[in-house]
Amino acid sequence: MTQKELEVFKDKHKFQDDVWGQIILNDLEHDVIDTPEFQRLFRTSQLGFVDLVYQTANHTRGVHSIGACRATQLLMKHLADNMACSGSTIKISPAEKILIRLGALLHDISHVPLSHDIEKKTHKIFYNSNNSNDSTLKIKSHYGHYHKHDDCEKNPLLYILLCNENKSTLAGICQWKLDTLLNNLDSKCRVDICFG
Ligand SMILES: [Zn+2]
Repeated sequence: MTQKELEVFKDKHKFQDDVWGQIILNDLEHDVIDTPEFQRLFRTSQLGFVDLVYQTANHTRGVHSIGACRATQLLMKHLADNMACSGSTIKISPAEKILIRLGALLHDISHVPLSHDIEKKTHKIFYNSNNSNDSTLKIKSHYGHYHKHDDCEKNPLLYILLCNENKSTLAGICQWKLDTLLNNLDSKCRVDICFG
């Protein structure tokens, strides 16, 4: 990998975030954010109907995803510091760092508007009873018509966005940049990655 090709993985693009302050991302992450598939997340509410009750809880999945990428940077830094202090020989390689950050940035990529509110979901609700003996009783509940956004078999959206170059600009960028990354920077990368 040439020095010029490595440039895309250097931190240089500044984002100002309400929660984290300044976040600095690399070319790859910047290009990913610029795709139509990611830009869609800036028009998708993070919290569904919650702002009907808490009016200021109206941030977007795009903003949340950039924040998640920042949180991952910090986690990896602290992990590296702790490992160095404890004398561990395990190290997160440069390629692994790039993939872990990208994973955080893209973890909500297949979300559609109100997805948590309209997707099939099973959860347990507390049985409301005056009888104190029943206070721990939970009842199974199910609602929603649509398959979950991260169910690759029943809902193909995640697969299309990340793997289908013919339909997704984002898939094209990921395959082009990450093939180069994995082939040249680190052949022993331990992060599982699968593109079609
Ligand atoms: Zn999320």
